[in-house]
Amino acid sequence: MINIPKGTKDVLPQEAYKWHYVENVARQTAKDFCASEIRTPTFEHTELFLRGVGDTTDIVNKEMYTFEDKGGRSITLKPEGTAGVARAFIENSLYAGVQPTKMYYITPVFRYEKPQAGRLREHHQFGVEYYGSDSPYADVEVMMIAKTFFNRLGITRLKLNINSIGCRECRKKYNEALKDYLRSNLDKMCPTCRERFDKNPLRILDCKEEGCRAITANAPVIPDYLCDDCRAHHESVCNQLSLLGIDYEVNPHIVRGLDYYTRTVFEFISSDIGAQGTVCGGGRYNNLIEEVGGKPCPAVGFGMGLERLILTMESLGLPFGQEDVPDVYIAPLCDEAKDEAMLLADTLRTAGISCDTDLLGRSFKAQLKYVNKTGARYMIVIGTDEMASGVYAVKNLLSGSSEQVKKVDLAAYLNNLK
Ligand code: ATP
Ligand code: MG
Repeated sequence: MINIPKGTKDVLPQEAYKWHYVENVARQTAKDFCASEIRTPTFEHTELFLRGVGDTTDIVNKEMYTFEDKGGRSITLKPEGTAGVARAFIENSLYAGVQPTKMYYITPVFRYEKPQAGRLREHHQFGVEYYGSDSPYADVEVMMIAKTFFNRLGITRLKLNINSIGCRECRKKYNEALKDYLRSNLDKMCPTCRERFDKNPLRILDCKEEGCRAITANAPVIPDYLCDDCRAHHESVCNQLSLLGIDYEVNPHIVRGLDYYTRTVFEFISSDIGAQGTVCGGGRYNNLIEEVGGKPCPAVGFGMGLERLILTMESLGLPFGQEDVPDVYIAPLCDEAKDEAMLLADTLRTAGISCDTDLLGRSFKAQLKYVNKTGARYMIVIGTDEMASGVYAVKNLLSGSSEQVKKVDLAAYLNNLK
């Protein structure tokens, strides 16, 4: 027996409706914001992530699924959604079209991580990418997509934390201040943070180790170091969120895992799914398109983990719409009726009615048991009498009532009941 690889999950037939529901609401929400879907390959040239993501992140340092293909190229399974979209934006000259370019994606994401609740080696993200607008309104609209999506799913308890990590200029000043503050405590920090100290000190604020957290608790905060433009942008984002009645908290310790962020960063956090509570992370990345090889182009977006989202919904007992059940079960009573059952099923399916019939040669009694399990709404029994008269009894399996319907009228009759 070969088992499923560590850190991956099957979505079984009886759970698939949850995914359909969540994905449908995601697509509809993106559509209502006039964002179009973009689909990029599951794998890209490794350099794209090395350049696009920077090299001090956990993802690039240790989490990428990288391999050499038979042609000797270094290939990486996408460890996040943004870099591929940025590449496609440049490669297909989308920047030359009407701006801003508003896109969304739903994609599998691969990271070699230690599997635990809410942390997988293959997970799925719903993400949004807005390219071409530097306006704080774009930041807010992107956050509104996430917020609207959560509201539509019935999730009202997520906490929105936001921060600004400024531009290259203000970050330079802040990094110095942070390093001055941390220098004397460096020996008490975890090895990863000691490494970050020189490479990207900002990320020390993101450390989950208790010891490091205690040290950074009183560190200087980046909002105090923002340049005038970045400060104005941040204030504008905060004001608009308030105006729209979206609850948020400015949390100066939110810096995000990826190095390409500038100005706004944000996270939606669930307190219902344990330690891995960040359901959605995003922000502005004005330098990314340039890093990936394009002309400078402002950008803002988010990535949302759908497994964590579904876990949150399950822990809150929220509904996932209706589970799929057959509209009709057609029960052939005898061998002669089997062909007729297949033909009738074909006619009804063509008319948009979902139809199930016997594929196992079950007795009528066994068919009744089966139809009960499937939850079908109606049943049509076909015997020699029905075949001769061309009139069928349509039984409502919920109420038990039954009606005689001519074969030619069946599709219309059933469609009327929907
Ligand atoms: P974390 O801090 O939990 O490692 P991250 O900062 O690496 O998250 P992002 O790269 O911003 O996460 O990805 C966006 C979202 O994707 C996360 O907020 C989370 O919901 C989800 N996610 C990230 N990594 C995983 C994973 N290994 N398994 C399941 N979901 C994940
Ligand atoms: Mg991570």
